[in-house]
Amino acid sequence: QPHVDFSGASAKNVTFSYGEETILADVSVEIPQNTVVGIVGRSGSGKSTLLKLFMRFWEVQKGEVQISGAPIHQINTTNLRELESFVTQETHLFHDSIKNNLRIAKLDATQEELEEACKKASVHEFIMSLPQGYDTPVGELGDTLSGGERQRMGLARAFLHDAPLMLLDEPTSNLDSLNEAVILKSLGEQREGKTVLLVSHRQSTMRIADTVYSVERGRMS
Ligand code: ATP
Ligand code: MG
Repeated sequence: QPHVDFSGASAKNVTFSYGEETILADVSVEIPQNTVVGIVGRSGSGKSTLLKLFMRFWEVQKGEVQISGAPIHQINTTNLRELESFVTQETHLFHDSIKNNLRIAKLDATQEELEEACKKASVHEFIMSLPQGYDTPVGELGDTLSGGERQRMGLARAFLHDAPLMLLDEPTSNLDSLNEAVILKSLGEQREGKTVLLVSHRQSTMRIADTVYSVERGRMS
């Protein structure tokens, strides 16, 4: 259990740049507890950057990112990782079994918990179709794992980690509409005790969002 209770997150008048160019200008976002907040915007508009600020990958130049009302830099990273599950635009898999690749999200996960998370992420059937199921070495699959399969593995990790705040960056971008529907349903059904920040350039993904922000050239509307 995290040592900090989760009671929502926010960005308050955040200005951020990687270098000279301003990527986010005076951006404010409220992520109330137990809601799904969507962020839409064109490629390069700063969506992933904003998400990464909630993961404390970068420090903001102006304004503040807050978790449970506290400045994010005051929350130690161990607590932060317990508060947050995330799916980034690339899912990295280790040269190890599918089971062990999933367990990095929850070291003591039982087989039952693994399967539950994989069902929510619509990847259980795929895994079961492999010759050794959950024991199949990812290395042997090599590049034969499709982008959508990797993405669903990433989602399964996020469901398994089961943190109160889920940060999802284009979690369904490589998926067909059937798989996307399963995942949106899983996200929609887990309301109790779950808060989601959902980034996507697809408007259809936003149907489960309670609030949608639109970011355009670093400005929020
Ligand atoms: P997409 O929809 O393509 O994922 P995005 O809205 O997520 O785009 P970001 O990845 O946040 O956009 O990028 C916003 C801007 O910041 C882009 O101009 C990008 O080139 C730049 N950028 C992103 N990461 C870095 C970095 N590590 N260093 C320098 N510039 C970066
Ligand atoms: Mg992005």
